[in-house]
Amino acid sequence: MSNFDKYFVFFSTCFAVNGYNRSLILDLQRRTFLSIPNTMYEIIDLFNSKKSIGEIIEFYGIENSEIINEYVDYLLEKEFGFIANYEEFDNFPAMNRSFEVPSLITNSIIEISHINLGNIKKIIQNLNDFNCTHVQFISYDKILLNDLILLLKESEESDFKSIQFILKYTDEVFEFLPQVINYNKRVTEILFHSSEDITDKIIPPTNFNINFLEYAIRNFKFCGVVNEKYFNQVNKERVLESLNHNSCLYKKIAIDEAGNIKNCPALKKKFGNIQDITLQNAIEINGFTEFWDIKKDEITTCKDCEFRHVCTDCRAFLENPKDKHSKPLKCGYNPYDNIWEDWSLNPLKEEALTYYGFENLKM
Ligand code: SF4
Ligand code: SF4
Repeated sequence: MSNFDKYFVFFSTCFAVNGYNRSLILDLQRRTFLSIPNTMYEIIDLFNSKKSIGEIIEFYGIENSEIINEYVDYLLEKEFGFIANYEEFDNFPAMNRSFEVPSLITNSIIEISHINLGNIKKIIQNLNDFNCTHVQFISYDKILLNDLILLLKESEESDFKSIQFILKYTDEVFEFLPQVINYNKRVTEILFHSSEDITDKIIPPTNFNINFLEYAIRNFKFCGVVNEKYFNQVNKERVLESLNHNSCLYKKIAIDEAGNIKNCPALKKKFGNIQDITLQNAIEINGFTEFWDIKKDEITTCKDCEFRHVCTDCRAFLENPKDKHSKPLKCGYNPYDNIWEDWSLNPLKEEALTYYGFENLKM
């Protein structure tokens, strides 16, 4: 009872998210999360509204004091905050949870094709004019080494902070990798699909990651799978973006193989073609920003899910394709019973699977 008149200051870089059955504490500094009971979430909420430990015990009744003190001890042990006096509490204001980025476009996906290679100078110049920071180049078929070198050289002139390549594996990988090192210091990751794991046959690059996928990526329908293993990227920018905007499509632009400008290659709606207009013209077309501000808190089922702010929100494949606030199709998690199942085997998704052409899906 020694802390009865004291206050618990929850670190401003820690953030509790309540779900239907349980909650999460996201630790934005240590980039981890921890599952907690919803009752602990309620107590954290009261701590954050400057209720003393004693006031909370009185609110829940003295018979619950043991559990409340256990929660305090647990949060202290896990280093999610500290005990403070009334006067000290206001010295630790909550973190500003707004999310502002000056660039009109921050991330982009370019499908590699003859059309896009023919317009590559324009594409890179347009993206650079946006101050776009992340670019993904993706190819489903084998690409000539000279074309890859062209992409490397052109994007080296940009201000991109990171470039990711997703490429079909060819034996030319052994020639391509030294070129990446020679020509482009902005490449952060190369993922080869349709490949054996040949990590032990190559000299590991020092400045970018290289990964191999056994299965073939034949089109952009591979994207949008929700899996617990992708939730390990807890970071401040991603969480703040998710609180304020769509966690996948906000400030994203894509160009498909035919040169069509879209929000993402898997979405049907086109906003002109790179052969005819600039990316700057495309984002001004009515509807381009339609998905930018659809937040996880507004999505059916996801709004009750404790993972909603560590989960990327796919708007291209939906359980109900006619409802833009529908749950992502490729999620097998049920926040009402906390069970993960294989989403592709769920009979309730059959209609949507047919709609998107995934009838014979084997993931
Ligand atoms: S229910 Fe929604 S928020 Fe939860 S894991 Fe699935 S897609 Fe993500
Ligand atoms: S909307 Fe879906 S398919 Fe498109 S990039 Fe996002 S997660 Fe991938």
